[in-house]
Amino acid sequence: MEFVLCLKCNVEKPIVAFAKNSSRKSGRQFYCRVCHSIKTKNHYQNNKPYYVDKSKSRRELVNQLKSNPCTDCGQMFPACAMDFDHVYGEKEFNISQKLGVSVEHLLKEVAKCELVCSNCHRIRTSSRPSKRRSQSIGSRLASRRVSRPSREEFEQLIKLYPASKIASWFGVSGRAVGKWCKSYDIVPVGRGQWGRLRRKILV
Ligand SMILES: [Zn+2]
Ligand SMILES: [Zn+2]
Repeated sequence: MEFVLCLKCNVEKPIVAFAKNSSRKSGRQFYCRVCHSIKTKNHYQNNKPYYVDKSKSRRELVNQLKSNPCTDCGQMFPACAMDFDHVYGEKEFNISQKLGVSVEHLLKEVAKCELVCSNCHRIRTSSRPSKRRSQSIGSRLASRRVSRPSREEFEQLIKLYPASKIASWFGVSGRAVGKWCKSYDIVPVGRGQWGRLRRKILV
């Protein structure tokens, strides 16, 4: 596995401890995931008024878009009782929960939806196969703040390094690494507690 020096914390980490960035020549960020998340948090704290303002104006736009009759029952309700139901194309994000995106990006997502009141939305959802509902849990997991390696990347890492080492590279607890194993359905292979755990599972 390739190791790269993080330009922020000066620690050599495996390449997968750096988030992907297609605009960079290496295809990865200059800073490791841990340093990157600290940088992002600091940036938000230093520019809080800008982001608060931005989300307020997006909220107003969303409410404006919601002041239309329900597609199913034709009635008008306050914006808080109206939902965007994704019916066309691939759902990228939940419109009411992601107000930091550009207006263009937001409208693109709205175009994939039909406006329905929350009552009609519930009726629609209950008659859908459960597969769709479990997918939405998946997308919630994917949008977690701590960015984790992909399944393939993680599988490679856990084969080669102890969980404690991986935990330190990603700035998470050993327990979190255990949870990654569980959620990716990977049986850890290796020394120490992982080896013992594996033997327990296999025997
Ligand atoms: Zn770093
Ligand atoms: Zn309705």
